[in-house]
Amino acid sequence: MLASLHTIFSIGIALKLAYTCAMFTPKQIAIFILLLVALLPLERAPIATRAAALSAKPDAAIRFAIIGDFGSAGTPEADVANLVKSWNPDFIVTVGDNNYPVGASATIDANIGQYYHDYIYPYTGSYGAGALTNRFFPIPGNHDWYTANAQPYRDYFALANNERYYEFVASPVHFFMLDSDANEPDGITGSSTQATWLQNRLAASTARWRLVLLHHAPYSSATHGSNATLQWNYATWGATAVIAGHDHTYERILKNNFPYFVNGLGGYPSIYTFGAPIAGSQVRYRSDYGAMRVTASDFFITFEFITRAGVVIDTYTINVTILPLYLPMALK
Ligand SMILES: [Zn+2]
Repeated sequence: MLASLHTIFSIGIALKLAYTCAMFTPKQIAIFILLLVALLPLERAPIATRAAALSAKPDAAIRFAIIGDFGSAGTPEADVANLVKSWNPDFIVTVGDNNYPVGASATIDANIGQYYHDYIYPYTGSYGAGALTNRFFPIPGNHDWYTANAQPYRDYFALANNERYYEFVASPVHFFMLDSDANEPDGITGSSTQATWLQNRLAASTARWRLVLLHHAPYSSATHGSNATLQWNYATWGATAVIAGHDHTYERILKNNFPYFVNGLGGYPSIYTFGAPIAGSQVRYRSDYGAMRVTASDFFITFEFITRAGVVIDTYTINVTILPLYLPMALK
């Protein structure tokens, strides 16, 4: 609704300008409107803006949470879980390190199910009945791989494809859930089997927004830093944004106007430090735990980072490109 009003407002301004300046006849303006209506659904190139925090979920939008580096039973994880559930999200996705310290079967239910069992299906742990349909979509981190084959993780969750990397669609968002650990059998370089899978699946996607999630951050100015091996051609291949964890910080980085997020403050009880900001770093935060809240419709996608105290640290919105202002010129 917000985006629709914005669109109508922008069209109104453009038409008023055109009319006031007597640049166009009413017929030209009518053709312009028809073309605009026809072109809007086809426009995929986004423009990015910052906007005020979204308090309520607009109609016809989906809302989901992204948690990272969270799987360590205790107060920070409990606080972030309560925060996330207070949003009543449609589902929760993770960016890995779901089960500290070594991804063991003995700790997995206390680290994950204790806080998130009501989003997991099928759920076989001991904290409740679980969800009716699966609403919890994790990816593995290095700590999940510290037990051979990440087997407890793969046994605990029922995930698509090979269970290490997979995709799912929650319209209007297509999720590409990667495995960035060096143990991944299909590789983690930009020319690996996994990267080729990503490129092909992105090319086949018809979703409005295409999010790539992986544990190790391609770009970060915190303790672990940037991972050059994982700096794939995400933007060229058609992704909308990349969200990672591994560094226990929050950071938003723009590379050629393409957003990379680091979202690792989900509950592990230690927060990392920042070095000098890398090129493109826009927002850096390390003062409290928290999670990302994402709201998406056909017209916009808004990424927020919110602390367990409810403070909105960052808001970043990508809108569908609204108006090719030069179009009336072509009709003259
Ligand atoms: Zn990690």
